Amino acid sequence: MIHQFETVIVGSGGAGLYAALEASQRSKTAVLSKLYPIRSHTGAAQGGISAALGNVEEDKPEWHAFDTVKGGDYLVDQQAAHILAEEAIQAVYDLENRGLPFSRTPEGRIDQRRFGGHTRNFGEGPVRRACYAADRTGHMILQTLYQQCIKNEVSFFDEFQVVDLILEGNTARGVVAVELATGELHILAAKAVLFATGGFGRMFKITSNAFANTGDGPAVCARRGIPLEDMEFFQFHPTGIMGLGILISEAVRGEGGILQNRDRERFMERYSPTLLDLAPRDIVARSIMTEVRAGQGIRGDRRIDDYVHLDATHLGETTLATKLPDITSFCKTYLGIDPAEKPIPVLPTAHYAMGGIPTDVQGRVILDGAGTVVNGLYAAGECACVSVHGANRLGTNSLLDLVVFGRRAGQHIGDYVKQADQPQLTAAVADEARAWIAQLTDGSTGPHGGHIMDEMQVSMMEKVGIYRNADDMKAAMDDIQALRERYRAVRVQDTGRAFNTDLLEIIELGNLLDLSLLTAASALNRTESRGAHSREDFAERDDDNWLKHTLAYLEDDTVRIDHKAVDISIWEPKPRTY
Ligand SMILES: Cc1cc2nc3c(=O)[nH]c(=O)nc-3n(C[C@H](O)[C@H](O)[C@H](O)COP(=O)(O)OP(=O)(O)OC[C@H]3O[C@@H](n4cnc5c(N)ncnc54)[C@H](O)[C@@H]3O)c2cc1C
Repeated sequence: MIHQFETVIVGSGGAGLYAALEASQRSKTAVLSKLYPIRSHTGAAQGGISAALGNVEEDKPEWHAFDTVKGGDYLVDQQAAHILAEEAIQAVYDLENRGLPFSRTPEGRIDQRRFGGHTRNFGEGPVRRACYAADRTGHMILQTLYQQCIKNEVSFFDEFQVVDLILEGNTARGVVAVELATGELHILAAKAVLFATGGFGRMFKITSNAFANTGDGPAVCARRGIPLEDMEFFQFHPTGIMGLGILISEAVRGEGGILQNRDRERFMERYSPTLLDLAPRDIVARSIMTEVRAGQGIRGDRRIDDYVHLDATHLGETTLATKLPDITSFCKTYLGIDPAEKPIPVLPTAHYAMGGIPTDVQGRVILDGAGTVVNGLYAAGECACVSVHGANRLGTNSLLDLVVFGRRAGQHIGDYVKQADQPQLTAAVADEARAWIAQLTDGSTGPHGGHIMDEMQVSMMEKVGIYRNADDMKAAMDDIQALRERYRAVRVQDTGRAFNTDLLEIIELGNLLDLSLLTAASALNRTESRGAHSREDFAERDDDNWLKHTLAYLEDDTVRIDHKAVDISIWEPKPRTY
């Protein structure tokens, strides 16, 4: 079946919905989502969205932009960070005007709290910059935007999984999707296509990410010749529930929670004397692992099981109940402990992809270091790389990225579609996807996808995790290549057409394998340590050779690496101290 739209948006998280809201005002717009829209991972975001409103203490967008650049270890494109910080204020007030119920100060203004790496006056001390709705900020953003999209008559294709991008030369023409309910293939022809498919934490064994975060958008693009930028930078959030990876928001530390080792020492005093527990995430995650590796973790005799404590007992029941209600309930449900009475056992968890589909500040996808644009193709949100997060993202800057760059992309699409032709597509554009699905469902038997997934996640976690070295990463590349080989023989066990989740999971696994390969290859190639990319064999940041973005191209079974310049037009890179 072929559907005609002017704009097609893949993904209904914060980025996709904001873009849809803008694009739908000037074009016939469809949103496809493999999940029911409000189940997107944006709904799991807890802590907040940053903006230098200065509601509770002095703050300036310039400080916010600087923190973003420094937090990203100077790999951030500085004009993009400037836009992020400047447009943050209007973005938050727009959300408020659209009905988002923010938590308030006693005077009725939007309340703000502290988050890691956000400082006053270029690093003097923590500043209260994160706007929040208790610890359900993302949930509220998603509900607000979804209601507005319904009001604007956006056409939703719920539970449609996009499996291919249609390109004609250098121009996007639409997408191919499987309808979950029927197994039918649909072609959506469009003048403009925007990917907003979110993150891909499911590459790793322990992750805060939802099961659906499998990087479908970046993988589809990579297979169509589009490079992925800075894939080596994957953020481990310092505080996942030990062993499970479920996120304990940084808001706990923002409200005053502290990390402690086996001696109940507040060890962050040694690693970050100024910001302490609110240092950027890469630094806090490494500090935790350094304590654990030194035998200073709790249960220090069996290192594999070691962890540290996040102590929030001194915050009191009222603060926990009003500002961190979901966190309190997670601790009770998953750990059987009340954070008002006992410290929370935590370890770093794979959390956020700084890298992704390269775009300019209008959300247009670019093809190379010279900035060549793919006509009509856009990306926004976690699957994209603008790059405002560089080598390490600051907490609360992702929700902001969705809103600011989702909106900019949607606005640009509104202009673009006015002068672009409506594509005339035939059913043949879905031939490759159809043949692939026919092969996966040919009724023969093959290796089980679940085992391949598990081995991939363990290999990525152990060999391309927080600490990296050449030998481990080469071994990971070999593992992933062998798994990709085995994957070719995988077949779907369930041969039915309706709600064939087996088929869709196998497609997702293929996406994760491709992204794992690109991640490991990009990481092996970068012989320095910067932000979240921390190498034991190259421990220093090396601006002379590595102040540049990576562009990784998937070429059959190999990865070709190229580079793109970093925009350092505002601040000179400096050593990072906190
Ligand atoms: C537990 C948790 C807490 C977080 N807390 C915060 C926070 O407090 N502050 C902050 O700034 N950031 C936070 N983050 C990060 C932030 O929430 C995410 O980066 C952000 O929500 C991603 O939004 P998105 O719109 O890019 O994608 P998502 O919200 O992940 O949405 C992706 C969409 O794409 C769709 N999709 C994916 N693949 C396909 C396909 N093949 N076909 C069709 N549709 C597809 C999905 O159905 C979904 O609708 C948190 C992340 C997690 C995991």
